[in-house]
Amino acid sequence: MYAEIIVDIASEQVDRVFTYAVPDTLNIWPGMRVRVPFGPREKEGYVIRLKERSDYDESKIKPILAALEDYPALLPELMELAWEIREKCHCPLCEALRLMLPAEMRGGRVKVKTEEYAQLTIPTDRVDEAIDSQKRSKKRQLLLTILSDGQPHPMDELRSMIHDVRVPLNYLIEKEMARVFEKEALRSPYYGRVDAPPDPELTDEQKEALSELIPALQKQEKPFLLHGVTGSGKTEVYIRLVRQALKMGKGAIILVPEIVLTPQMINWFRSRFGNAMAVLHSRLSPGERFDEWRRIRLGDARIVIGARSAVFAPVENLGVIIVDEEHEQTYLSDRFPQYDAREIAVSRGKREGAAVLLSSATPSIYSYAMTRRGDYTLLEMPHRVLNRPLPRVHLVDMRNELRMGNHGMFSTLLQRELEECIGQGHQAMLFINRRGYASSVNCRKCGETIKCSRCDVSMTYHSVDQTLRCHYCGEIRPMPKLCPSCQSPYIKPMGIGTQKVEEELNKRFPGAGVIRMDVDTTAGKNAHFELVDRFRAGQAKILLGTQMIAKGLDFPQVTLVGAVMADLTLNFPDYRSPERTFQLLVQVAGRAGRGEQPGEVVIQTYQPDHYAISGAATQDYRAFFAQEFERRKADLYPPFTMMARFLCEAKEMTEARAVAEEIKNRVIAEFSGTPLFRRIFFIRADEAPITRIQDRARAQVLMKLLNHPDTDALLARFQEIAGEEFPAKVILEINPASLA
Ligand code: ADP
Ligand code: ZN
Ligand code: ZN
Repeated sequence: MYAEIIVDIASEQVDRVFTYAVPDTLNIWPGMRVRVPFGPREKEGYVIRLKERSDYDESKIKPILAALEDYPALLPELMELAWEIREKCHCPLCEALRLMLPAEMRGGRVKVKTEEYAQLTIPTDRVDEAIDSQKRSKKRQLLLTILSDGQPHPMDELRSMIHDVRVPLNYLIEKEMARVFEKEALRSPYYGRVDAPPDPELTDEQKEALSELIPALQKQEKPFLLHGVTGSGKTEVYIRLVRQALKMGKGAIILVPEIVLTPQMINWFRSRFGNAMAVLHSRLSPGERFDEWRRIRLGDARIVIGARSAVFAPVENLGVIIVDEEHEQTYLSDRFPQYDAREIAVSRGKREGAAVLLSSATPSIYSYAMTRRGDYTLLEMPHRVLNRPLPRVHLVDMRNELRMGNHGMFSTLLQRELEECIGQGHQAMLFINRRGYASSVNCRKCGETIKCSRCDVSMTYHSVDQTLRCHYCGEIRPMPKLCPSCQSPYIKPMGIGTQKVEEELNKRFPGAGVIRMDVDTTAGKNAHFELVDRFRAGQAKILLGTQMIAKGLDFPQVTLVGAVMADLTLNFPDYRSPERTFQLLVQVAGRAGRGEQPGEVVIQTYQPDHYAISGAATQDYRAFFAQEFERRKADLYPPFTMMARFLCEAKEMTEARAVAEEIKNRVIAEFSGTPLFRRIFFIRADEAPITRIQDRARAQVLMKLLNHPDTDALLARFQEIAGEEFPAKVILEINPASLA
């Protein structure tokens, strides 16, 4: 028997199958990870296929040395998917296969953890007699009593109850009354305990959505896009759908944008499905992640909730993949190979006959456009559950506030609403999309902004330790006393950040209690869960936070939501900034009035007439979509085109730019006059919007390409070019999450 094997080396040169012999002593299946000799070394590899004979000189074929697990780590469907990713992302197969496994599994960096257990070997009805016979040792009697249920007990438990438990235990073992053995222990990532609430009676809209979704568990259907307003009860739809899948013996994957954003979703699922559920995300320890992955692979956990990479979870007989908050950019991988988890979900659904449900209150322009074209089926839930109204949104033009002499960060309206809300014993959430004490430090005399010495971005002032920090590279510097440029003392933090708002709130509303959630306060493993729990328990009246509190959270006591600085995201140099601003504001507004009391929302802005802001105020997705879609069409942005760029990084900008120019000229020289050239609408070499990151100068060749099957040939060629040697590091990005 022979095996075709992909050796786990990420290089184009070895991106092909190698043939090895399967020794009789080994039990090898396709999908297994194995150790093989490769040149002078030993490498890990993946078994792609078994075959009876080999085309090569059989005497030269080397044998597989060992199987790394006794089961195939890769499911057949996921191996097929890997081939597809290899084609699409133009990467070696082994890099696509690596996506399917916990990173720590490679190179044996995590091991199965075992725990010692003790158990009686005598029948339970003889225990009393045994206890009687051990009158001379209290410890032995106690040990026998603890073990009298006949069940295995962890040694840790016994040690905590009996000092030097080994002594009496060894005695019992010698008398053949007990035994000690090792058992696999699973490291559990669960936090806290949750009780299952009773199932609510479904709303008509929920029932209707389910009546379309449930048949798709059995019969191939187009992907679904569920457009349900905030508070329409989308989670309950997921729960019922997953339950139905389980009943049919099928598994489910639920993708969430970021685990820290969705602690409640996990709790809801866990309270309903208990241990049938596994969680996969980056905050797990390597051991926990490996154990969760194994529970899925071995079929103990049939439901997986996780971030982007959970789309590759080894769930067999998959019934449904749900992508919650499908508009989130976290579904785009920022590493090579760059994949879009939504695209993978659709592809897996098709291949494995599973239903695919994308869902959002603010669908991505792309997915909504797909429903217009008839590629996806649109499901709508336009009302909140229990006839709760959508919150009332007020736009405040901050330019008027300044004219009226209000220099503070809160408009008169927001201030009044906060007083009222807290006065009535309700809770409020304030959203600000920045972290730190202030966004930047400026000199009011000469206008100088302090920038990171290695990145082309402003440094942020942190009042706790009076330092300046760069959020790109982590550089820390003390706050200067004088302007480095003009030596004037008028150098001050400008703008506002969560810490400054927190101080201001504590001053204005003493005793109300403020919980701040941002990257700094949620660094610990369970910190975000704890803060959310404290706010839910009413220990503070105001929850203040960044993007982190914008979505997914459901606090029935919150009646007021304030967006302190709505426009910040509108000014990013990215064609998606109107879309992102609209989404963020609608999601933030959606946190208000989810309980019995109706909600109020105050959006503070300097651009109240921008369609992304006014559209968010009326929460009219369709109107926003229509405008944004027209703009994309007119300006040739996705989904009408594909954005691609070569990012060139070098020590000096002149080098980076020179490489960008060279690549641009090569592309033009190679393709002009060919039919493929008509697929390139736009090509331009330039500095990247952020000109330096981590002390590397950044230039780019930005392209708009026609969405067309032919374009793949172009991209494949671009990938080859990017792989060549240049005096700069060159990366090809296709529709990247960030164009900064
Ligand atoms: P969405 O994700 O659409 O914003 P959620 O799924 O968070 O909305 O649901 C909002 C709230 O409504 C939650 O507290 C949820 O428990 C509750 N809910 C969901 N469905 C129902 C229902 N059919 N009847 C009563 N309450 C419901
Ligand atoms: Zn100055
Ligand atoms: Zn930096």
